[in-house]
Amino acid sequence: MALELHHPDQLPASAADTPLIDPYGRAVTYLRVSVTDRCDFRCVYCMSEHMTFLPKRDLLTLEELDQVCSAFISRGVVKLRISGGEPLVRRDIMWLFNRLGRHLQSGALEELTLTTNGTQLPRYARELYDCGVRRVNISLDTRDRDKFADITRWGRLEQTLAGIDAAQEAGLRVKINMVALKDVNGDEIPQMIRWAHGRDMDLTLIETMPLGDIDGDRTDQYLPLSRVRAALADEFTLTPLAERTGGPARYDRVEETGGKLGMITPLTHNFCESCNRVRLTCTGTLYMCLGQEDSADLRAALRTDASEGTGDRQLMARIDEAIGRKPEGHDFVIDRKGRKPAVKRHMSTTGG
Ligand code: SAM
Ligand code: SF4
Repeated sequence: MALELHHPDQLPASAADTPLIDPYGRAVTYLRVSVTDRCDFRCVYCMSEHMTFLPKRDLLTLEELDQVCSAFISRGVVKLRISGGEPLVRRDIMWLFNRLGRHLQSGALEELTLTTNGTQLPRYARELYDCGVRRVNISLDTRDRDKFADITRWGRLEQTLAGIDAAQEAGLRVKINMVALKDVNGDEIPQMIRWAHGRDMDLTLIETMPLGDIDGDRTDQYLPLSRVRAALADEFTLTPLAERTGGPARYDRVEETGGKLGMITPLTHNFCESCNRVRLTCTGTLYMCLGQEDSADLRAALRTDASEGTGDRQLMARIDEAIGRKPEGHDFVIDRKGRKPAVKRHMSTTGG
């Protein structure tokens, strides 16, 4: 059943506590927000070496980010993930975490979390804990110093390792995200499992996704996790866990280590039927599906509300209209002839 769409001006102001339900009956309870497109790394699968970043005026201000996140929380979002680019390189980002912490205290928000490359965690881990953050995803594709430098182009392994130490010392639970790259880190996966689980961290493997132009050919990087899983079964006993997050991850218990292994396989599995999430870019564009271009401009609505003194009226109407267009699923594909990304925006724009 598709919802009838109206111009936002014709929509009534939404009741502040009405849940967001999409045309397929799925409740939207998870928002990922990219707070910047900038980063101190230039990972080969994520960015080209010479990126042109957005002018600062195009970004939502921290106050606007708080306003839009709070609007979603009032409409039933219970899990908020802050991402980027590298979220912790945005100036004064702790102001936003501090503000959002009030929703944890009120009980409206169940979890406030972030995905980071870890470089700024020695500086911020304790403060994040004090804001109510309890878990953090840290990206680490290899523990080989030279490979790390090759993959991240601008990064050093010690920076991310120091971030992991700082997070654990501050009491944050750490999950390691590792993008599986053919001929680069595939052979390192078993030792990463042992290392992460040995430090009481879960590990999630991610298939490369065709997002944004990079300098190179993505079909060279693509390593299907179905193949990885089959190879791991020679060495480990993987017991599938029932747990689902409403996202593209599936989890196994690794019996030998007792830890959890996640696999994010957007290209080989269809996870869309249980999708509970939407994504907001740092410029206030809402994407209802990671794999589709359809979007809604929340920044214009926010700024109209601000200039007309209409509170969240335009914003809520625009959100309702957008959720009414959330598609049933995506159609990711790595185009093997044109070698073009299926979706033009980079992961650093939408937030991974
Ligand atoms: N800078 C932070 C970090 O690296 O964790 C947060 C943003 S980053 C875009 C979020 C996650 O997306 C990281 O785990 C990264 O490895 C992953 N990622 C980036 N580009 C990707 C791509 N094309 N395919 C799959 N994962 C990607
Ligand atoms: Fe930066 Fe994260 Fe993208 Fe790497 S994956 S370039 S750390 S945003």
